[in-house]
Amino acid sequence: MPGEDRFSFGSRLKSVEELIGFGSRPPISLGQWQEKFRAMYGQRNAELNLSPSDIWLHLMEEAGELAADFRKEDYKKLWRDLPDVFAWLCAFANRTELLLEEVVWHKFPNVCPYCLKPESCSCIAENRSIMEDDALQQYRRKPYPETLDGWEEMFERIYGNVNTIQSSKGIGFHFMEEVSEVARELRREHHAELKNELADVLAWLVAVYHRAQAHQSGKPTTLSACIWAIYPGKCDKCGSCPCECENKARRKRRGSQPVEVQDQSSLPE
Ligand SMILES: [Zn+2]
Ligand SMILES: [Zn+2]
Repeated sequence: MPGEDRFSFGSRLKSVEELIGFGSRPPISLGQWQEKFRAMYGQRNAELNLSPSDIWLHLMEEAGELAADFRKEDYKKLWRDLPDVFAWLCAFANRTELLLEEVVWHKFPNVCPYCLKPESCSCIAENRSIMEDDALQQYRRKPYPETLDGWEEMFERIYGNVNTIQSSKGIGFHFMEEVSEVARELRREHHAELKNELADVLAWLVAVYHRAQAHQSGKPTTLSACIWAIYPGKCDKCGSCPCECENKARRKRRGSQPVEVQDQSSLPE
């Protein structure tokens, strides 16, 4: 799609060389998770020439599967599908050269951006507008959570209470609403709004995770553990980092092609 490179926000991401050899431990920070997914799939996505819209379509497909699992209360499948949404969220941030940590902190700087409460917000019922940027700016000066677990705790502290009284359908629909809002801002090329909606997708993905976890206590214990269970530093399908799925498929296609006969005249009659 023409003009999609306008969704490059200026890269401060690490080079691929720096990313490979990340080790076999789970990433700790949200930034490391994003980099981990770039090491796994950055090359493949670049070779497939996936645009931001292509990547968001992949995410929507996975989000739809997650919504179906959630509706059917099929938690076994949900633990499989939820990490895929996170993986494509990282892919989108990588493709648009956004740092998820900065994007999410801009919207949620340790307080609810609609009421400025640092915990137990219940303003969702009041349908408020987001606070003026000046009001949020002082909160953004503090460092953001150092770990994905820390982000998870922050969202739980602010929204955990109000989410416990929401229905699962309410949470699931809200998550899908945020996914569609990114699509809208992507189509309109509204960069600032797109970043805000991207932050909302992570916030509601955490809410989906917590609701699912409440239904099946004990496993997995953190969002990070849930993602690592499916993506332990390598592609879940080919088991490689970087992902080799496309290369394997290409080799397979080549291998299944019939051998060309060069000179028909030398064949026996
Ligand atoms: Zn609030
Ligand atoms: Zn693969």
